[in-house]
Amino acid sequence: MFTDTHAHLDYPEFQSDFPAVLARAEAAGITRVVCIGTGLDSSRTALALAEQWPQVFAAVGIHPNHIPEERPDFLPRLRELANVRRVVAIGETGLDHFRLAKDDTAGRAAQAAAFRAQLDLAAELGLPVIIHERAAWDDTLAIMREYTGRVRAVFHCFGKSPEHAREVIALGHLVSFTGIVTFKNAPDAQASAANVPSGSFMLETDCPYLAPVPHRGKKCEPAFLRNTAEHIATLRGIPLDELASQTEATAESFFQFKARTLRATH
Ligand SMILES: [Zn+2]
Repeated sequence: MFTDTHAHLDYPEFQSDFPAVLARAEAAGITRVVCIGTGLDSSRTALALAEQWPQVFAAVGIHPNHIPEERPDFLPRLRELANVRRVVAIGETGLDHFRLAKDDTAGRAAQAAAFRAQLDLAAELGLPVIIHERAAWDDTLAIMREYTGRVRAVFHCFGKSPEHAREVIALGHLVSFTGIVTFKNAPDAQASAANVPSGSFMLETDCPYLAPVPHRGKKCEPAFLRNTAEHIATLRGIPLDELASQTEATAESFFQFKARTLRATH
């Protein structure tokens, strides 16, 4: 049994055959999926899917690349969305300087302000955080250091070296691996997936992106998590079921699925 801890099931790519997407996931042993919001509308859809399907949970947040088109007063609306039992995390949020011009200080400042606002919200609600980081490592770590002990986070789609992974883990956070670990040209991701301690990492697809080998280039979906898991089990030299029980325990303690489901009865 596996959890796909990062899937964009709210994207239009999945709407035509949504029940079949979940059925294929279940047949491949992926029994839970966390649907990740990237803006207010996307978060609303993620939440609606989580309320409709017992195997789906939601994270609500504003992706750094979507800050420019998001309403500036997103925070009270995000708080309302986050206060629902099927919501297990805030995110994805973080910093992405990849597409910003070098001199776009206003763009950087807007991302940092939205990131801090969402970290504050997570601390207030006791929710973990899903972090997107691209071309902004030092700035992201600097902000996360302000929240040490107050917020627990996962650095999603982790592709950096084991030294970078150690930095994240030393601050009390997790990393999660996508299909990138199955790509030939990803030695850092593979070294990290082989070496990070058990209990410090989770698995994800980031679908519809990043389909693992042998599906590379196709539209990714939660069922393909199986290929990533098999690859990581091989890299770590452990049986697949051992990887499954380790990563399930990590995901359960990070997202608290059971506690959040039980809360429904009150
Ligand atoms: Zn994502």
